[in-house]
Amino acid sequence: MVEERAQRASRNHPTRAFITGLAGQDGSYLAEQLLADGLEVHGLIRTPVRPPFCPPEVVLHPGDVTDHDATRRLLLEVAPDEVYNLAAVSSVARSWQEPELVRAVNGDAATALMDSALALQDRTGRPVRLVQASSAEIFGSPATAPQDESTPIAPTNPYGEAKARAHLAVGEARERGLHAVSAILYNHESPRRPQTFVTRKITRTVAAIARGEADELVLGNLEARRDWGWAPDHLGAMVLAGRHDLAQDYVVATGESHSVREFVAAAFAAAGVTGWESRVRIDPTLVRPVDAADLRGDSTRARSALGWRPTKAFADVILAMVESDLRPR
Ligand code: GDP
Repeated sequence: MVEERAQRASRNHPTRAFITGLAGQDGSYLAEQLLADGLEVHGLIRTPVRPPFCPPEVVLHPGDVTDHDATRRLLLEVAPDEVYNLAAVSSVARSWQEPELVRAVNGDAATALMDSALALQDRTGRPVRLVQASSAEIFGSPATAPQDESTPIAPTNPYGEAKARAHLAVGEARERGLHAVSAILYNHESPRRPQTFVTRKITRTVAAIARGEADELVLGNLEARRDWGWAPDHLGAMVLAGRHDLAQDYVVATGESHSVREFVAAAFAAAGVTGWESRVRIDPTLVRPVDAADLRGDSTRARSALGWRPTKAFADVILAMVESDLRPR
């Protein structure tokens, strides 16, 4: 009986995954989790060089998601059970500078990938599960906090607009028979975050100040509030979401928001630097034309349907990042 159940489980267990956006923070954590789960992992990368933090077992496929035909051919060849679409221009600030690129990568390419996943399913007759990395930015500057899956989609920057297009395409693909889910990810951080994100910019600079290698931290809006979680937690939620029997969307968030100012204060404290106010300078050019005041997610659905829980509190995320940045390289 037990053996029979084990065999059934192994038959139902996915064997191969395909990740776009492998080179980023999220791609590396996702690949680690899927490999640990026994999957063969394939990833699309723009340059044929193994990205930092990418496990050696991952099969790399050079390519670009904006080349829809080549990506479709590759997907048909790899024939994964699970597709994770993480490929994106991830900076909101950059999305005002290069809106066309952001629309092409974050929006059009995602939509094309869903079409390709449907084509794969049609060809093989085997179900394909697709998980889209959606974003709290689809809600723009919401009037209320916390937001949940029923909050109106009303993006206020090209990044959010393109993510919203992909998010809506998930619903359409689902109607067409794809087991597609959208994980509405709130900010998720780690020592692998690039410094284009405020968290890593803060922890890197604070560590440099603690070592006497920098004098000041230059920032934009200190009052914005974000729901900062631990990146591996959010990637774990994506895997659970894709494997749930019911294909639906999930807010993935801690449920707590903090201001950039609070993040700065906690980072200086973690590094043992006092009197942080005199170290911080505001550069008005870093203040965004539109910036959501409070992005905070209500992840009740993910918690109850998936049994998901964040494992690291705000202070622990900051501590992990500061400790990593204080370590000699
Ligand atoms: P996002 O929420 O995905 O755009 O993540 P970011 O880490 O880029 O930005 C989080 C918040 O920090 C936003 O409200 C920014 O306006 C604010 N912020 C304040 N100063 C800075 C800065 O110097 N760089 C960045 N990236 N964001 C900043």
